[in-house]
Amino acid sequence: MTDICCICKSESKIKHVVHYGEFIVHEGYEQQFIALCSNCGYIYSMNPLPIDMSNFYYESNVRYDYGIDRKRVDGLLNRSRRQMNFILNKIAISSFQTVLEIGAVAGGNLSLYKEIGKDVFGTELSQRNVDYAKKQYDINLLCADFECFLKSNQQAYDLVILSQVLEHIFDPYNVMKHVSSINTKYVFIEVPSFDFKYVDMPYGMFIPTHHSYFTMESLSGLMNRAGYKLIDANLLLNEWGRNTPITTSSVQSVWEKINTDGIKTDEAFPLSTISSEQHLDIYIDRSKVRLSEIANIIEQIPNDLRLAVYCVSRHTALLYEKTSLGRKNIIKFYDKDELFHNRKIMGLDVSSFCKADAEANHIEAILVSSYEYQPAIVNYIRDSGCRCDIITLYP
Ligand SMILES: [Zn+2]
Repeated sequence: MTDICCICKSESKIKHVVHYGEFIVHEGYEQQFIALCSNCGYIYSMNPLPIDMSNFYYESNVRYDYGIDRKRVDGLLNRSRRQMNFILNKIAISSFQTVLEIGAVAGGNLSLYKEIGKDVFGTELSQRNVDYAKKQYDINLLCADFECFLKSNQQAYDLVILSQVLEHIFDPYNVMKHVSSINTKYVFIEVPSFDFKYVDMPYGMFIPTHHSYFTMESLSGLMNRAGYKLIDANLLLNEWGRNTPITTSSVQSVWEKINTDGIKTDEAFPLSTISSEQHLDIYIDRSKVRLSEIANIIEQIPNDLRLAVYCVSRHTALLYEKTSLGRKNIIKFYDKDELFHNRKIMGLDVSSFCKADAEANHIEAILVSSYEYQPAIVNYIRDSGCRCDIITLYP
């Protein structure tokens, strides 16, 4: 199967298929096709989650700092301060006045620019975030996607910020061309980076709501074609620590608009020493090794042990498809996400975990099927007083 690369319009090919099988709770997502453009090095998912499902996810589930714990809010603000310091080290504070953030979450980031006297505006999909930004920071956000925003927007902005946004977008070239049309000077972009990878959870980089998996090679190619040149970029290594969903490294970068239709990539950017394709090949090979190590742990679970599995994520789907997990004596699933409750998965009940439930079902062991949340889940089970064995898959 081939496709056309949205950035350079060359032909791209499927490099790898991640099989999630029948287990996965999103219909149509039984396998994920990872494609690569061998011309510009753009890596992307050819079948990302459907847009309505992704939007539902953003509107209701993630990317809000309203109502979550203080530690997480502080973490987001620290990230914003780090980004602002990076920007202000590269461009003069007096050289920009208007700031637009696309995907502004709950306005915390923009509030820092407001504090230094800038005129700020943003777009955000979650109404809850929009309300929070108004109440907490007196910042106006438009509750709309970027396309809707463009229809009503009359203004140009000196600095446009896209922090952990571009990877979610279906056609990043189209978006960056439109950004360029309303941007007078600078763009800040932070995206997960494939240049440095944590091979922890097998295929963990291929997050379902991410459409693009950028390397500096492909990001440079994208920005160059959209009419920007690089001012500077930094690689960031997993600043959030393990106990968060964000376990990938990222790149933060600031770009300057150039008044031409683009410049030759090889004149504008330092060439990567390893290509996108090599990065992808290495990652897939190491994921396979990691998965076989996990399969060995699961193989050793006795087939008659009364087992519960904690988490019904794509991680568990992968294990059902690629290990002997489906042949074990699984009694039920635990997951704190209410979306999964009151329904059957693989014919089994899903509920929140509690000690009484584990005892009522005579559960002998609980398999923790998560990388990011393994430490938190293990603590939660232990703190409950439950005496089941806990089986973990990661060091
Ligand atoms: Zn391409």
